[in-house]
Amino acid sequence: MDTQMLIGSTFEAGTETEEKVLNPKTGETILELPEASLAQVDAAVDAAEKSFDNWSATTPSERSAYLLKIADAIEADADGFAALESLNCGKPINAVRNDEIPAIVDCWRFFAGAIRSLHGPVAGEYLPGHTSMIRRDPVGIIGSIAPWNYPLMMMAWKLAPAIAGGNTVVFKPSEQTPLTALKMAKLLADILPEGVVNVVLGRGESVGNALINHPKINMVSITGDIATGKKVLAAAAKSVKRTHLELGGKAPVIVYDDADLEAVVAGIRTFGFYNAGQDCTAACRIYASDKIYDNFVADLASAVSTLKFNQADDTENEIGPLISRRQRDRVESFVTRASEHSHMEVVAGGKVSGEKGFFYAPTVIAGALQDDEIVRREVFGPVVSVTRFSETDDAIAWANDSDYGLASSVWTKDISRAMKTAARLRYGCTWINTHFMLCNEMPHGGLKQSGYGKDMSVYALEDYTAVRHVMIAH
Ligand code: NAD
Repeated sequence: MDTQMLIGSTFEAGTETEEKVLNPKTGETILELPEASLAQVDAAVDAAEKSFDNWSATTPSERSAYLLKIADAIEADADGFAALESLNCGKPINAVRNDEIPAIVDCWRFFAGAIRSLHGPVAGEYLPGHTSMIRRDPVGIIGSIAPWNYPLMMMAWKLAPAIAGGNTVVFKPSEQTPLTALKMAKLLADILPEGVVNVVLGRGESVGNALINHPKINMVSITGDIATGKKVLAAAAKSVKRTHLELGGKAPVIVYDDADLEAVVAGIRTFGFYNAGQDCTAACRIYASDKIYDNFVADLASAVSTLKFNQADDTENEIGPLISRRQRDRVESFVTRASEHSHMEVVAGGKVSGEKGFFYAPTVIAGALQDDEIVRREVFGPVVSVTRFSETDDAIAWANDSDYGLASSVWTKDISRAMKTAARLRYGCTWINTHFMLCNEMPHGGLKQSGYGKDMSVYALEDYTAVRHVMIAH
């Protein structure tokens, strides 16, 4: 197993406090990894700075070739990456191997292609005797900080557009899920020139804090909690850094009375609980028309009760455990507080599961009202709430009544109703008759406190490049 950080061309261990990396299926310690010292963070930033001039001067086609090699190398070792990600996150091996790894490989390939067709849109004479042109150039040195829910995918979402755009990066994985980032560090060091990507380990309040405050870092890209995003903004204000923030979500799901209920139930069973609900787009906040509410709740409860987890044969598992005891306890406390209210009923799950590891049974809470905590706050676990509505305007107003603005969905057979609803929802993404589906050509990112900046798509390349004007007098 790769255990060392990558600083320039050197692999080295951190010299500070050791952090335990746990197996969420058993609660056992996989290994302990020391975090980077401040001097090591400085060395990583210096390495990124040193490589910037050469890397940013490469042509798009040269950078594209590097990205394609990275994609091929991940694909060639897909089983190794999948096994390690599954070990560190508790994800079912099939979910990583069949869903995540192909999407990750495709992300690297997408940006390899996209960077070759990123154009400055203007060249012309806007003042007599002067020709103007627009360039899109790298932003500089990026401090990139990832969460624990999709470690390898977040690394691809952050690194691929950044280095395709000609930037150099210091990357910090979550302290809870560093293992695939360390394996990637080895792979990247074998392919990329020295210093283009550097990987440092450590907690948010130490190593993360050093990165977001580092005077030489020009842009911070972070996926994480709203509270963490606010700290990034406060730090960025001191030195005027660019920021790219992908923060949490609490996706509303509007189910109209003419929806295909079988499809909705199957959709929520999958998209509300994928990755044990530890997903910022999880279909977790359902508004169901009162005309179909009772049947829908009954069908959803029985469907969710059949979700397979904590099976000895991992290939049978549909979902895994929570990432940590702390996260499981947090999920449990949300459900406990909800069940103390008589208007809400736990119709599926609602309990910790198994003696080992951090499992929580997939849970459906019916009868939730708009002001209930379970409707308003991000649980980030396998819990969905269902709220009854009778008026369309209420459903849309309640869906929009949230601090979050990342993802949403509408379920109806009436396309006009679907389009009118989609136009009124204030979310970075609205799906119609599905949820959760992503593709590398399309952007992912939020409104409101879910943050700003796009991952995937050409919009990510725009975020990781700066528009510049060059004018020639003649
Ligand atoms: P987190 O904010 O605790 O940590 C995210 C990363 O930030 C980690 O690497 C952590 O070490 C680092 N960090 C924490 N405090 C920091 C600080 N003061 N300075 C610098 N870095 C710091 O979030 P998490 O618990 O790892 O992830 C779960 C959260 O991420 C959820 O809220 C979820 O919704 C959100 N998320 C959002 C998206 C999205 O695309 N919008 C995707 C995945 C996860």
